[in-house]
Amino acid sequence: MPQPDDLSAYQAAPDLLKGKNILVTGAGAGIGRAAALSFAQHGATVILLGKTESHLSEVYDAIEANGDPQPAIVPFDLATIDESAYEDIALQLQNNLGGLDGVLHNAGILGELKPLEQYDGKTFADVLNVNLLSNFLLTKALMPSLKAAENASVIFTSSSVGRQGRAYWGAYAVAKFGIEGLMQIWADELESTSSIRVNSLNPCGTSTAMRRQAYPAENPSSTPQPAAIMGAYLFLMGDDSIHINGQQLDARIR
Ligand code: NDP
Repeated sequence: MPQPDDLSAYQAAPDLLKGKNILVTGAGAGIGRAAALSFAQHGATVILLGKTESHLSEVYDAIEANGDPQPAIVPFDLATIDESAYEDIALQLQNNLGGLDGVLHNAGILGELKPLEQYDGKTFADVLNVNLLSNFLLTKALMPSLKAAENASVIFTSSSVGRQGRAYWGAYAVAKFGIEGLMQIWADELESTSSIRVNSLNPCGTSTAMRRQAYPAENPSSTPQPAAIMGAYLFLMGDDSIHINGQQLDARIR
């Protein structure tokens, strides 16, 4: 299948993800919530990972109410830098599910929007831990499960400010630049040694709590709802994108 120009317009087959196990981080809110619902709607068993258990439970209930495959909940704080905590989760998943067909690294925090000269060092470290280090540690821990699947897809979430630096975006932008590097290295290392593909996706401006925090004066209806960009997420997670590896993609035409 050729890659659509506007990924958000991709029309997924209803059973695109049938039988696949897919982990979504930050699944309790915003884009991650929409992706979890959409993956389940297309047949996947979704593992909902996030910090706030009540948010995950709400998404769990919504998936069940839709009659989609029963998901699983993994409450986990991605600010954790203890590598063994990631290995414990990965082992639990491997024991319960076997192979893992996809990971959407979506969870993130904004940190501060201010000049680097005024940026607080502790906040800088927190943002790097949640937005970058966790993506490395989780991917590394999940590698045996990803290798056990036939054609696993790993999606890292980028941002426009992770491709071109912008004043006042501080640690958030630095972490997203790191995500692009991490994606490229995983993709290059895995290309000849596995059937795992690794790409980065910039959702582009999307109406969520984070967007409102970053642009408080913006009319929320001036950016699309998360559900409107799910074509891109489905395309990258399903087998129609099997030939795409190491790419920086946008979820919609900006
Ligand atoms: P939201 O703030 O709406 O949701 C963020 C999610 O990440 C929440 O579910 C939150 O969990 C989870 N999360 C935050 N910190 C942690 C943590 N320490 N451990 C586990 N989970 C955590 O953000 P968006 O949906 O807008 O953003 C999703 C991704 O898209 C992010 O990576 C963001 O950088 C990126 N992005 C967003 C854009 C936009 O316009 N919205 C534009 C470009 C990129 P909880 O439910 O517990 O709060």
